[in-house]
Amino acid sequence: MTTSGTPLDYRSDTLTRPTPQMREVMAHAAVGDDVFAEDPSVNALQNHVAKLLGKEAALFIPSGTMSNQLGVLVHCQGGDELLCETGCHIYNYEQGAFAQLGGIVARTIDGQQGLLHASQLATKIRPRDAHLVRTRLVCLENTHNMAGGRIHPYEQVKDICSWAHDHDLVCHLDGARLMNAVVATGIAATKWAQHFDTVSLCFSKGLGAPVGSALVGDRGVIEMAHRKRKMLGGGMRQAGILAAAADYALTEHVDRLAEDHLHAKTLASGLAEIEGIQLMQGSPDTNIIFFQVDPVIGSATAFVEQLAHSGIKMLAVSENRIRAVTHLDVPYARVSEGLDTIKRVRDQIQNI
Ligand SMILES: *Cc1c(COP(=O)(O)O)cnc(C)c1O
Repeated sequence: MTTSGTPLDYRSDTLTRPTPQMREVMAHAAVGDDVFAEDPSVNALQNHVAKLLGKEAALFIPSGTMSNQLGVLVHCQGGDELLCETGCHIYNYEQGAFAQLGGIVARTIDGQQGLLHASQLATKIRPRDAHLVRTRLVCLENTHNMAGGRIHPYEQVKDICSWAHDHDLVCHLDGARLMNAVVATGIAATKWAQHFDTVSLCFSKGLGAPVGSALVGDRGVIEMAHRKRKMLGGGMRQAGILAAAADYALTEHVDRLAEDHLHAKTLASGLAEIEGIQLMQGSPDTNIIFFQVDPVIGSATAFVEQLAHSGIKMLAVSENRIRAVTHLDVPYARVSEGLDTIKRVRDQIQNI
């Protein structure tokens, strides 16, 4: 066991539980029926998010998946095509909902460790021709989850979006962890968001709220998203209890993301020193680490299982790959304790 006995759960930043202060705010949240647009806490959150991202309007949505899919559905019709990076969440981890719900197809483009260049997109617009789908939307992800919480460099994002707009395409940002990019770069959320027609932001990742995401954009687009959210069954009633938690998270838990980033860097450099472990990237940009285990250690699943017995939880994502994510519920103060435990587990394997 780790010395304090409480497991260090690095599987995901979705595991964060509301803090006592957040629960306090939730308990006292003013509520109303949000389907009637009468929930003051939801309205306050939506105003807060719209302002934070410099857009006209925002909509509170039950999950990041629904928020992304609404982002696609407001821009595309059946027979339209979206362009996205091969490893992105919208394409891989949302059941291809854009195809199921909207008759929309996706064309994937391999990024360099998740990052795209405008030059890669240049040839991807289909000519206008009755045989072909209509290229309509570019989706980016920032930070990029499967690329290890990687920050899409600002200039590249700007170039891609300006190229897209020059070619009558619209742009959606899966900004589930946009605030991680904001904190790590010091580039304001409004600056990142200004290049996109819609942005989706998650409250339930590193920000530590129990539930919810928001979609932001201009008023017309958000009105359309509001209609479609109801169609998908995402119209919530006294959602203010949840919105209050999200609002609290935006106020209190953004700056502290820097601690998660420092934690990830320290954890990664410690992992890199362990024989048989290789980082998939250099020092992490934000709060996500992917590393590979050599056959001498065994399979990722077996190693993860042994770590769990010793109080360290991580996620095996393939036969030899493991993901670790730092967040609010894993204190940075325990990082060396965690690393010592990982070393011990690794050495025990070696001794067998
Ligand atoms: C978590 C996540 C989402 C949304 O996931 P939900 O589980 O539906 O909230 C979207 N995009 C990325 C990059 C994510 O990591």
